[in-house]
Amino acid sequence: MGYASGRFARLGLALVTLLSVGGCATSAAGGASSVAPTTSTPSASVSASASLTPSPTPSAPAKPDCDQLKCIAITYDDGPSALTDQLIDDYVAAGANATFFVNGQFARTYPETVKRAHQLGFEVGNHTTSHKHLPKLDDATIAKEISSTTKSIEWATGATPTLLRPPYGDRSERVDRIAGEQGLAVINWDTSPADWANKDTATIVRLSLERARPGAILLMHDTHQWTVDAAPATIKGLQDQGYTLVTVSELIGEPVPGKLYPTT
Ligand code: ZN
Repeated sequence: MGYASGRFARLGLALVTLLSVGGCATSAAGGASSVAPTTSTPSASVSASASLTPSPTPSAPAKPDCDQLKCIAITYDDGPSALTDQLIDDYVAAGANATFFVNGQFARTYPETVKRAHQLGFEVGNHTTSHKHLPKLDDATIAKEISSTTKSIEWATGATPTLLRPPYGDRSERVDRIAGEQGLAVINWDTSPADWANKDTATIVRLSLERARPGAILLMHDTHQWTVDAAPATIKGLQDQGYTLVTVSELIGEPVPGKLYPTT
């Protein structure tokens, strides 16, 4: 059933793509972007509320039901980078979804990439501003590391993130509490092809497929060429195994601020 679901998701993404190209400022997640260009419709006499066209709204794509489907959430940390748009293209072409945990400083460098990912229905999470070991910092500095990146994501996408990926997966109850105070759930991972050590595309594909399991959150980085190049074969291999590739929030359900995931 993974194929049917994948195709459905792909249709949804395609519709969102069309609407985004058309200058629609409403995102797939329902948030309005403050940096989206002003819409200029050719048929100015038709008001927005009077639209009778049967086209679905951007928020129409159905969320995959991971209680029924064989879901996996692939996450990409440390970007965005100059490679991220290629990754986005590969996921859209395959009708797959993913989550990007962005560093605030790079979200400021590549805001159009962050905005595009958000508008296409990818999830954008917070990976702090300067990628420090959070438990070593005092409360105020942790709060600033998180809040400044949330502001950068809001600036780029118009939407507020609900997920924090602590750098190095290094967190504590204190970090979790501060994240919770800012409305963020804490998201680690339970499997990875270790793309920081295995600097080879074929190895990343093989290990991703070997280590995948239903319900997993898988860690990679969209800052490595070998990782980005591994995406098409990894996505296809997982889909051939019946997986539906989803965002973290689609996998875990409504994220609870301050709660650590995976829970087991
Ligand atoms: Zn990182």
